Amino acid sequence: MMAYEVVIGLEAHAQLLTASKMFCGCSTVFGAAPNTQTCPVCLGMPGVLPVINQKAVEFAIRTGLALNCTIALMNRFARKNYFYPDLPKGYQISQYELPICQDGWVEIGENGTAKRIRIRRAHLEEDAGKNLHTGIAGASHVDLNRAGTPLLEIVTEPDMRSPDEAVIYLKKLRDILVYLEVCDGNMEEGSLRCEPNLSLRQAGSKEFGTKVELKNINSFKFAKAAMEYEIKRQTKVLSEGGKIVQETRLWDPEKGETAPMRSKEEAHDYRYFPDPDLVPLRITEEMIEKERKILPEMPEALYKRFMEQYGLPEYDADVLTSAKALAKFFEDTVKAQAEATALSGKDLGKETSNWVMVELLGLLHKGKPKADGGTEPWTIEQDPYEQSPVKPQGLAELLIMKRKGEVSGPIAKSVLEEIIDEVMAKNPQQLAQYRGGKEQLFGFFVGQVMKASGGKANPAKVNELLKRKLAG
Ligand SMILES: [Zn+2]
Repeated sequence: MMAYEVVIGLEAHAQLLTASKMFCGCSTVFGAAPNTQTCPVCLGMPGVLPVINQKAVEFAIRTGLALNCTIALMNRFARKNYFYPDLPKGYQISQYELPICQDGWVEIGENGTAKRIRIRRAHLEEDAGKNLHTGIAGASHVDLNRAGTPLLEIVTEPDMRSPDEAVIYLKKLRDILVYLEVCDGNMEEGSLRCEPNLSLRQAGSKEFGTKVELKNINSFKFAKAAMEYEIKRQTKVLSEGGKIVQETRLWDPEKGETAPMRSKEEAHDYRYFPDPDLVPLRITEEMIEKERKILPEMPEALYKRFMEQYGLPEYDADVLTSAKALAKFFEDTVKAQAEATALSGKDLGKETSNWVMVELLGLLHKGKPKADGGTEPWTIEQDPYEQSPVKPQGLAELLIMKRKGEVSGPIAKSVLEEIIDEVMAKNPQQLAQYRGGKEQLFGFFVGQVMKASGGKANPAKVNELLKRKLAG
């Protein structure tokens, strides 16, 4: 049987975290009642004029810089014409021949196996609405809340050679977007969607085979499964002497297979032309420099620095840098100890890592106590500052005391109960609100008790006792 080489390119659509839409002032918040976040502009009424969202432009520049792209000083919006019920204007405002970011790269792979995936372009565009096929007697409805949400479409060259490689790239891209705080990376809610295109060619050949595009995939798992299925399908067609049809296919997670959706359009089918409602977008060097200055340390750099600066093993560095907020939590805990002692980051790194990763995350993963006696999951990795009852300063003090031998075990229950009574007496307003149903104040009380105990109290014990006492 003929040996084939897999060739994969990837388009990713990232929803930008702007407060308002790409060309109007409507809110972009997810989950509102259908069609409540719309206006004449995003409803496609005649006679309205779009206005470019400055924040979206800044986010695109920031992302372009992080992806090593050239930022085009003159770029332009174009109309991409097609009809679809969730696109009331009959065209999508996108960018075509002059995208805002061009010719970048992302490095994947580790130590010695590094490989660059080239970024062909990243351009700004607006999202379409959503068709909901949940109506009575088979009726369909259209929700236009999403219509006009800013998207950055990031397109690679066909540089990936296996589904695994494509997934590594996609994960890396998501980490970068989340670290930049331009996209929340939530694939389930559709904030990040990917469309792999895949073809096979005879091993050793320089020519590309006919490619198939896989539409709107919303998880890493589905992306991998869909690509693996396509490889099998295309190998079978080619081995039997058949031809691959250029088309867009949909992944069906239930059946575990892809099925044809439509024959692939060529660019000329869309009759792109410059949008006459929008002047060309000029980017200044000052705008680029402003974004360059606020570029955060990227996950890859942070991962390497954590191993060097704090002497962490690869595993710890990987877990702690999996989210920017978690990395900051760890680093602040080390810093607070280093400031209070003569110990260095290397002395403190591993022990602090153990406490953050094992003790704190372990405890929090057991769930947050609710007033009804049940638990609900914490999302500590996304926001440990907001969510954890113990803050870096408190954890640092605890670790310092532990090293001095000052903490020999959980402090006496009676002392803790006294602290809780005191905190409740000092905050009658919050207590009344909590008892009136404002459950989110639970975290406030936990924080106050931990503070009053100088970080010495056992958080699990505090939660247990507080829950009982607050209930009255
Ligand atoms: Zn609107």
